[in-house]
Amino acid sequence: MQVIIAGAGLSGITSAWFLRQAGHEVLVVDRGEQAATETSYANGGQISASHPEPWSSPAAPRILLRWLGRADAPMRFRAQADPALWRWGLRFLRECAPARFATNAHAIAALARTSRETIAALRAQLNLAYEDRQAGILHLFERAEELAALPEKQRLLAAHGIDSALCTPARCVDIEPALGAMASRLAGGLYAPHDESGNARLFARALAAECARAGVRFRWQSTIAAVDGQGATLAGAEGDTGERLRADAVVICAGSFGAALVHPLGLRLPVYPVKGFSITAPVREAQRAPTVSLTDESRRIVCSRLGETVRVAGMADIGGFDRTPHPARIALLRRWLEQSFPSATYSDEAEAWCGLRPVTPSNRPVIGASRVPGLWFNTGHGALGFTLSCGAARLLTALMQGETPPVDPRPFLPETHHV
Ligand SMILES: Cc1cc2nc3c(=O)[nH]c(=O)nc-3n(C[C@H](O)[C@H](O)[C@H](O)COP(=O)(O)OP(=O)(O)OC[C@H]3O[C@@H](n4cnc5c(N)ncnc54)[C@H](O)[C@@H]3O)c2cc1C
Repeated sequence: MQVIIAGAGLSGITSAWFLRQAGHEVLVVDRGEQAATETSYANGGQISASHPEPWSSPAAPRILLRWLGRADAPMRFRAQADPALWRWGLRFLRECAPARFATNAHAIAALARTSRETIAALRAQLNLAYEDRQAGILHLFERAEELAALPEKQRLLAAHGIDSALCTPARCVDIEPALGAMASRLAGGLYAPHDESGNARLFARALAAECARAGVRFRWQSTIAAVDGQGATLAGAEGDTGERLRADAVVICAGSFGAALVHPLGLRLPVYPVKGFSITAPVREAQRAPTVSLTDESRRIVCSRLGETVRVAGMADIGGFDRTPHPARIALLRRWLEQSFPSATYSDEAEAWCGLRPVTPSNRPVIGASRVPGLWFNTGHGALGFTLSCGAARLLTALMQGETPPVDPRPFLPETHHV
């Protein structure tokens, strides 16, 4: 089968790899000049099976209200006259019900566990250099009341074979000695020893190179103007109709821009952008810079050591497609880095970035066949696009092949999302 993949981020490149391995003729089309130029460019770097809980949680409405109007809020909502935003927001609130939250968290955990195993298998099979570390992820909590929820979280993780251990502040410092300066403000931690970290951009580009070697073709700097189940039409010069690319199937992996691509076909893909930010600072004193990937759960900030740099990422700003790295949000990340790991990095030289997470109201990605024959989805991985990418691509490939899927596909199918 000839397959066109729309988008060369983490979801598009992993899909290309597994579809090619299954014997298909694959063409990846992207408006960028290479893989991972948009949301997959500078994310938090975590493969975090230990964080399957969706943002649409029973606590989310309270968190949004508590932080309303505060510049340092980890999550912000900017109201706009955009019907897609309001539709998405109402569905998000519905997914905050306790039963919906639990169902969504279990579905995401199952996919995340499979995905973590899949990336390990790929690493063993291919020569992928992406500053990866298999040192686990340590979740940090500042307030004692936050620890009360951990036994229930551990039960959820254990149900999917995801190991985790509760830690005292002293144990947190044993695991990551660079936490010394932060220890006094910690109430405790949760350590997931089999989680991983790495540079998502390098991973996507290394896998894209393997794809090319395996026979996948790429069309760079090519903007898709329209899609259907039999191909894609590129944008022509000065608004003219561009070249038509034909295929037997098309997979939408276009991040936050997929919804607009399929809207003319009568499909309402519930994927909306949630903007996040990161900084990447060169290491100054190696022994003061963390090597274990960290999640500051109280401030909703993640931190990963990537080669000779430290990446700090976080924030969730809901309200449109603007892609400027807002200075006040970047300053928050820089302050966190300086206070948590004093003199560990050259934080004033940090590279600032922001990206649009493609988020569904339930946080479950959309994977499978659409109502339009030949048109498929593998998108909407939200805050976990690196964590879920390899498992999601395997699931997509199994569904396209009519083979036994690696996880229960039902929570991810487009019809379950009412697309
Ligand atoms: C601040 C931040 C921190 C994060 N941290 C983590 C983390 O630690 N762990 C984790 O698992 N996930 C994390 N994520 C989430 C993860 O980065 C995303 O889920 C993932 O990158 C999404 O990949 P994607 O392929 O769906 O989208 P993208 O990477 O955006 O790829 C979509 C591609 O489609 C192309 N495209 C779109 N429209 C068109 C068109 N019309 N024509 C041609 N090409 C088109 C774009 O050029 C782009 O290359 C984070 C995200 C952010 C923003």
